Amino acid sequence: MSNIKENLEKVLAKIPAGVRLVAVSKFHAVEELAEAYEAGQRLFGENRAQELIAKAPQLPEDIRWHFIGHLQKNKVRAIMPYVSVIESIDSVKLLELVEKEAARIDRTVDVLLQLHVAKEETKSGFSIQEVLEAGENNLLTCYPHVNVCGVMAMASLTDDMEQVAEEFDLVRRTYLTLKDGCFDESEYFNELSMGMSDDWQVAVKHGATLVRIGTAIFGPRKY
Ligand SMILES: *Cc1c(COP(=O)(O)O)cnc(C)c1O
Repeated sequence: MSNIKENLEKVLAKIPAGVRLVAVSKFHAVEELAEAYEAGQRLFGENRAQELIAKAPQLPEDIRWHFIGHLQKNKVRAIMPYVSVIESIDSVKLLELVEKEAARIDRTVDVLLQLHVAKEETKSGFSIQEVLEAGENNLLTCYPHVNVCGVMAMASLTDDMEQVAEEFDLVRRTYLTLKDGCFDESEYFNELSMGMSDDWQVAVKHGATLVRIGTAIFGPRKY
């Protein structure tokens, strides 16, 4: 017996109005995703290109797929037909490539800029200094086939919720600096994607508009 519908409803009941849920379905079978879909969920998050490409054609077309993992340059073309939002833009080079591939198939794609604020070196993303410099140099706003819709970040993997809160606050302040800076004329730059199963409540307190929740909905992943 799966509790996906029940888990989803519990999470949704706690998320305040104005915050949207990305159900992170990585490592879970399409049957499990279909259960969440039947319970009304439409935003799903995957972090590996191959897995997204394999799953998307098997599920209804009105699902909006968010790509949330490190995106290798040679995978951009493959995910482009399926992805609704690429949340994990971690360099200007990747942004340029996404522009090129979106233009190639004549579509526009929404993206978020991933910021690195966690202690773990393994996590990817722009450093705060890098993203602010890129903004000042007009390297974030010159893409006709890309709507930069905001920022995404992961906090450190820790039980210290004060540390997590500080990191989310830094993300929010950086988001606001960009919004008042190079994105001040953008109608799209409105999203702050932060918070996972163990820290989304902290993220919401710090202004998250999108939370990315996997384990609390689908249960533990079997890697
Ligand atoms: C896996 C993942 C999540 C979800 O994590 P849970 O702890 O299972 O909720 C959120 N964001 C990103 C970028 C992830 O890779």
